Amino acid sequence: MPPIQSRLESVRQQIRRAAIKYQRGDDAVQLLAVSKTRPVEDILQAIEAGQRRFGESYIQEALGKIEQLGDLGLEWHFIGRIQGNKTRAIAENFDWVHSIDSAKQIRRLNDQRPEQLAPLNICLQIKIDDEESKAGIPHEEARELVKTMHHYPRLVLQGLMTLPAPSEQLDAQRKPFRRLRQLRDELATAELPLPMLSMGMTDDLEAAIAEGSTMVRIGTAIFGPRHYPGQA
Ligand SMILES: *Cc1c(COP(=O)(O)O)cnc(C)c1O
Repeated sequence: MPPIQSRLESVRQQIRRAAIKYQRGDDAVQLLAVSKTRPVEDILQAIEAGQRRFGESYIQEALGKIEQLGDLGLEWHFIGRIQGNKTRAIAENFDWVHSIDSAKQIRRLNDQRPEQLAPLNICLQIKIDDEESKAGIPHEEARELVKTMHHYPRLVLQGLMTLPAPSEQLDAQRKPFRRLRQLRDELATAELPLPMLSMGMTDDLEAAIAEGSTMVRIGTAIFGPRHYPGQA
């Protein structure tokens, strides 16, 4: 089996094992394949192994891939930092955005989402630990933003995302994920149930599933170590 297909299969097994261990339902945890910095050939291998959902962080790079693979019925998730002048490209080309961290981004994406497309699915990126994580919205601000969502018919707020500082031990890894789930439980209402918890990467997948992740974002375990341009 080509390497990407066998690694993808082993990630699926890890997800299944964790889901059983922590009594999550079948299909409770979806897999987002994070393909940032990877060539289209790698994505095609993952597609051959049945993967349909891909995450990208750099808009220019992503647009090239989306154009090349446009006819394959894939689902594209933007998970990187959002620069103000890039919201239109995101609104026009993606199905999901996980990394929303301001009211201004929400307004712009709503205004720029084309009429002929379905509403854009979004998650608020939450700053869980004030000292350690750089990006994201503090809890208090998230509470306020959730109350404004009815003003934005071109967006569907699906839930919350976080990117905690790395830690080694399972127990330590679980803490920020637990806090994200607790915040979600606090913010969810009948009109806005916030089903999505976008949390867990290659090194903390099990901890995230233990705490209720509904989508893990996995790059390295599927595609191997990343090589950034200019690095050896
Ligand atoms: C790169 C990235 C990932 C994937 O990380 P791996 O450790 O390679 O699995 C997940 N989420 C975000 C937001 C990322 O930028």
